[in-house]
Amino acid sequence: MKALPLLENRRETLKEKTEALVQTLGRAPTLAVILVGSDSSSQIYVSNKAKAAEKVGFNSETFTFDSETPPKKVFELIQELNSNPEIDGILIQRPLPKNFPEDEVMFWVLPEKDVDCLHPENIGLLVTGNPRFYPCTPAGILLLLDFYHLPVDGKVACVIGRSNIVGKPLASMLLARNASIIQIHRSTKNPEDLCKLADFVFVAAGSRNLVQKSWIKSGAVVVDVGIHRNEQGKITGDVDAESIQSIAGAISPVPGGVGPMTIQVLLENTFSAAVNQGS
Ligand code: NAD
Repeated sequence: MKALPLLENRRETLKEKTEALVQTLGRAPTLAVILVGSDSSSQIYVSNKAKAAEKVGFNSETFTFDSETPPKKVFELIQELNSNPEIDGILIQRPLPKNFPEDEVMFWVLPEKDVDCLHPENIGLLVTGNPRFYPCTPAGILLLLDFYHLPVDGKVACVIGRSNIVGKPLASMLLARNASIIQIHRSTKNPEDLCKLADFVFVAAGSRNLVQKSWIKSGAVVVDVGIHRNEQGKITGDVDAESIQSIAGAISPVPGGVGPMTIQVLLENTFSAAVNQGS
């Protein structure tokens, strides 16, 4: 399940729609990205987002703070961005330093500019079936499944991980598509046995090679969300892809699977935010 064929199509469509929007709006859709600290993976993600935004004709602005910055200072910048009519979408790159209170931070970005879909209002709209934005990684995964004609309706889906950004919204979106959900987390007993019941396995645990061949039912579809760099500098996922190759029905590769789809949905959300801001 490579992202590229689908991605090329959607990028091209978005680029064309952006050219038309620039004519009516008088400016390009604009994404603001906030990075606090010097986590090397986060720096790469932020730079990839900025590059992808520019490729489709968006403006992107990156604001960086060192890890010692008091949360109040970042909050003040976000308030300015919230009230700036030339900014359509705001993304706070995670993870944030530990002194940032996540239960407060999730309220900082105005819901209308919350293109990462983390504001409780947007999560509430999603869960009740009336989404304003789609959470980027889960929505990117569903686009991949649709492109490869892999419907989850009536199937058993196992989601490994329960973060606010991936695991929880993904389970909710799969449920909305009539899958029956098994959700696995750190306190789950016998995760391997539960996982083996699933027709679809989604792995977002942040634990390299967690899922092995013995976890997978023959023919199951496996979506790997994890991103890790091994000792040789090679990017790998949460799934031992080599070992499950012979048993899985389909696997999303790392890199080149979920990651680029996540960025694409982020841009599509920013486009929607710009359309709504201009109307
Ligand atoms: P997180 O650390 O916030 O959450 C991880 C979840 O996995 C937790 O709910 C935890 O209970 C569960 N978990 C951890 N270890 C486990 C284990 N051994 N067994 C069962 N459950 C376990 O992580 P996150 O933000 O959801 O990200 C997960 C992974 O996906 C990371 O590798 C991250 O880098 C990657 N990620 C990739 C993309 C992408 O675009 N491809 C986007 C977001 C996150």
